Amino acid sequence: MKEKVLQKFKELYGSAEGVSVYFAPGRVNMIGEHTDYNGGHVFPCALTIGTYMAVKKRADKKLRFYSLNFEDLGVLESSIEGIEPEKSAEWTNYPKGVMWAFAGRGFVMDCGLDVVVSGNIPAGSGLSSSASLEVVTGYMLREQFGFDVSNVDIALIGQYSENNFNGMNCGIMDQFASAMGKKDNAIFLNTADLSYEYAPLVLDGARILIANSNVKHKLVDSKYNERRNECETALRELQEAVAIHTLGDLTEEQFETYKSAIHDETRRKRAKHAVYENQRTIRAVEALKQKDIALFGKLMNDSHISLRDDYEVSCEEIDVLVEEAWKIDGVIGSRITGGGFGGCTVSIVKEEAVNAFIERVGAAYTEKTGKKADFYVVDIGDGPSVL
Ligand code: ADP
Ligand code: MG
Repeated sequence: MKEKVLQKFKELYGSAEGVSVYFAPGRVNMIGEHTDYNGGHVFPCALTIGTYMAVKKRADKKLRFYSLNFEDLGVLESSIEGIEPEKSAEWTNYPKGVMWAFAGRGFVMDCGLDVVVSGNIPAGSGLSSSASLEVVTGYMLREQFGFDVSNVDIALIGQYSENNFNGMNCGIMDQFASAMGKKDNAIFLNTADLSYEYAPLVLDGARILIANSNVKHKLVDSKYNERRNECETALRELQEAVAIHTLGDLTEEQFETYKSAIHDETRRKRAKHAVYENQRTIRAVEALKQKDIALFGKLMNDSHISLRDDYEVSCEEIDVLVEEAWKIDGVIGSRITGGGFGGCTVSIVKEEAVNAFIERVGAAYTEKTGKKADFYVVDIGDGPSVL
């Protein structure tokens, strides 16, 4: 990939001399879904796939961007000065949003940049190609301009720009997982205060298998924002009855005691998911520490059921992938991962069952939906780096 972006850089901008190449990973969340904006815990890990960015400073203020994933858009030009979101800027609104967010914090970028990007994350599939693009941009800016920011700052700036520049009200999980990734570890992150702990994902001869449904239903972003609003309203209603800051403050028992304060059945289900999923995540990490992979897998399955029935962010295609996976011997756990309404599932599968999984889930998926799924056995990698 490094050679590929350098080659393209040379082809487009004349020379690859003095060009630096950076990388930031995508992520998969093992458990703790839709909890990151509810003050709950998440348990994601960075992948070895991600976004590569070749960069060189320019003598003027011009920005030139090219992505090998959007070749038909060609080189997109703009300026480092007066950055604002524009539809015509297409995907460059992500890196430009990060530059805008840095500028807003008083960091000075005194020249423009030539940039080539290439990613090997299936885009829009819920493995956070957008966060990895934001994090690689933030990391690159720190290295190029010597900004004094930590990796956590880079994650926060990425989230801020996605929220305020790109209009996607995402939580902190994706950027945090990308910026703070650690090989062979998942990150047990408390989104209420950003305290975190690395936990080795020792799977005892099992692999992490991602199945991409290759569907992305319309309204994903608006549904996502709708869920956020439902949870915020439910929280306000609960606060009439009990002193809490976030839904993550409640145990299941407390939720059952106070849930009648929520005046709407749908909102009650949404809040129930947020509370139960948070507790499930805490329990899952404990199970992993006790080397109880079977319990970890069961909690993943319960997570799926809750996301399907209470949070209602699954869809027919994803349910087929998960329910077919559950039928296979050697599947320890399987669930939807990411924002939902399509995208991917994540499963823990015994090494010897991986081929059967791909064959049988793949065939059943096509038979039941008429669509084709893609499968990836993934490894857990480190956070951003200079290559
Ligand atoms: P996800 O983050 O789940 O992959 P999103 O819809 O949030 O899906 O983000 C996908 C968008 O991020 C793409 O449509 C594109 O605008 C941008 N993006 C991600 N990777 C790249 C890349 N390698 N080159 C250009 N744009 C990218
Ligand atoms: Mg995204």
